[in-house]
Amino acid sequence: MSSVITYSPAYTLVPTYECFNRCTYCNFRSEPGTSPGLTLTQAQQILKSLQDRGVIEILILSGEVHPQSPQRPAWFERIYQLCELALSMGFLPHTNAGPLLYEEMAQLKQVNVSMGLMLEQMTPKLLETVHRHAPSKVPQLRLQQLEWAGELQIPFTTGLLLGIGENETDWRETLEAIATVHQRWGHIQEVILQPHSPGQQQVWQGEAFNMTLLPQVVAIARSLLPNEITLQIPPNLVTHPDILIECLIAGARDLGGISPHDEVNPDYPHPDAQTLAPILEANGWQLKKRLPVYPQYIPGLPAQLKTLVEDWQLATKSSSVIQ
Ligand code: SF4
Repeated sequence: MSSVITYSPAYTLVPTYECFNRCTYCNFRSEPGTSPGLTLTQAQQILKSLQDRGVIEILILSGEVHPQSPQRPAWFERIYQLCELALSMGFLPHTNAGPLLYEEMAQLKQVNVSMGLMLEQMTPKLLETVHRHAPSKVPQLRLQQLEWAGELQIPFTTGLLLGIGENETDWRETLEAIATVHQRWGHIQEVILQPHSPGQQQVWQGEAFNMTLLPQVVAIARSLLPNEITLQIPPNLVTHPDILIECLIAGARDLGGISPHDEVNPDYPHPDAQTLAPILEANGWQLKKRLPVYPQYIPGLPAQLKTLVEDWQLATKSSSVIQ
């Protein structure tokens, strides 16, 4: 059994918090037309401040503009430019901007070392509850995104949001859908198991996911997903060390992007690697940095990304375990 647990030293850039969906558990969105977007000058300043601070991944995480909106091309262009800027400054971009048009995804492949979209849950019953006003959360639409990413051979991160009104059968159905699409294309690098953790901004009064069930979900995921897919749990949401360790014993091997601020769960600050490492070490696990693209996918990256990734590979190999 491998005793290594990985994490990605990351920083999140948000092109816009504005989102045309209204998921009732959301703690991220603002109403369209109410908040200024991130300018390239601002992004450049932020990225400059991150150089030499150990950050490797730039997660570009965005609220969504309706695919038919006249604002969509400008929204997409800004995301693309942010990826280019991050690359030009030596970082590795990973974009998660909701469902994309096929052409948009194909273009972003050229400037992202991996991309992501949470499948969340396949059950359509959530369209009557927490996703009633969230057209982007139609399960088949999201599954199609996973298919397209496979067709385009984009290393991909997806995951389940837990505790939003689904049951164990629904977890299994969602995990099986991910396994099936991966068996077709071989591109899913990791699956996040993200427990719903209520925040101050959300409308929905639902309970937090019962964290004592998380090790069981990890075990189910491990039994249903191919071994090459890494299971990820977010350490800022799994705050009890005993449960964190139980999740590792059940098969979780990654703690995701660790950055100063969790934009999706702003009420839950990330512990840093220096805090996590001793907790893991006391239980026989070793914390290691990883890149936002898993090693088996590096040979298939577009040439202009591969060189930068290989440089990072060398740099992380020769550096200490955590930073
Ligand atoms: S969860 Fe995502 S898609 Fe839903 S409202 Fe929030 S930002 Fe938009």
